[in-house]
This record gives sequence, structure tokens and C-alpha cells, in this order.
Amino acid sequence: GNKNINAKLVLLGDVGAGKSSLVLRFVKGQFVEFQESTIGAAFFSQTLAVNDATVKFEIWDTAGQERYHSLAPMYYRGAAAAIIVYDITNQASFERAKKWVQELKAQGNPGMVMALAGNKVDLLDARKVAAEEAQTYAQENGLFFKETSAKTASNVNEIFYEIAKRLPRV
Ligand code: GDP
Ligand code: MG
Repeated sequence: GNKNINAKLVLLGDVGAGKSSLVLRFVKGQFVEFQESTIGAAFFSQTLAVNDATVKFEIWDTAGQERYHSLAPMYYRGAAAAIIVYDITNQASFERAKKWVQELKAQGNPGMVMALAGNKVDLLDARKVAAEEAQTYAQENGLFFKETSAKTASNVNEIFYEIAKRLPRV
């Protein structure tokens, strides 16, 4: 029969990469040019139907600033899934994303579904991170990879849908 799955999901990544914007796009279908900076973390929930299950995502959108780093384990501990976000126009944000991946691999749930999101793909002219480089990194580290745009909605529902499909059916 159809299963109901509750899944805690955390977004991690550099400040300004577009974590809050991806959540706003997924949960409310909206985008704002001047998204307020997240303080600490924010909680959202959204339900998504995939073919064999209804997944209720409990989403923790974290702040990203270094001064909040010590809080991050509270949000990724016990999480079934994580989206690590970087900005394709910002090489430093990609380096920061790789740090998060290594931290999750060391301290996160062993079975965690991890997605790497190269966000702001609408800003192609300003690209600094090649898609191939990120794809290779993702493959080598057991994540799946998508380039997204919270602004145009490109691949936003898809990344959550792909996570929903990969969650363990227990
Ligand atoms: P966060 O710190 O990771 O939560 O990033 P925000 O969601 O606050 O976004 C930071 C800035 O980037 C805001 O001004 C957003 O409007 C902008 N932004 C977020 N996603 C996109 C995107 O996909 N494309 C473009 N062009 N701008 C984006
Ligand atoms: Mg934010």
C-alpha cells in the first residue's frame, strides 16, 4: 500500500548560496530578490507524493554563518536527508559545500540521503564552478547532483522529489 514517511531534511551551505530561497520556492512557490538572512535556523514542512509513498519533509533551513557552525549538528543529527547548497558563481561556496559533505560523512547519519545543489544556474554568464567538476565530486562522495535555480524554479521540485524517491521505505 501507500506509505507515509516523515523525513527530517537539513539544508547546509555557505551564507548567500540560496538555501532559504530554495525552501521558499519549494514550500511556497515564491522567490524574492532580497531574501532576509536566516538567523540560527528556520523550520518548514512540505508534503510530496511520489509513486509509492507520501513524504512529509520536516525542513531545517540553517544559517550558514561560521558563528552558527556549532549549532549545525543539532539540525543534521537524526536527519534522513541533507541538501548541501553552493552558488555556481562563487568558488568559495563550492569549497564550503565540500567541507559540509565531509562533516556529514564523518558525523551524520550513515544512511543519510545527500544531495548537492549548484544553485543560481540562471546566472550562467557569471559561472565559476563547472558542472562537470561538481558532478564528479558528487559521484565520488555518494551524493546526487543537480544544478538549480530558486529564481526560475529550475530543478527545485526535482531535487526534493529525487530525495523522496531515495529515502528508505521501512
Ligand atoms: P542563504 O543564505 O543560503 O539562505 O541564501 P538566500 O536564500 O538568502 O539567498 C541569498 C541571495 O541570493 C538573495 O538575494 C536571493 O534572492 C539570491 N538568490 C537565491 N537563489 C537564487 C537563484 O537561484 N538565482 C539568483 N539569481 N539569485 C538567487
Ligand atoms: Mg538563509
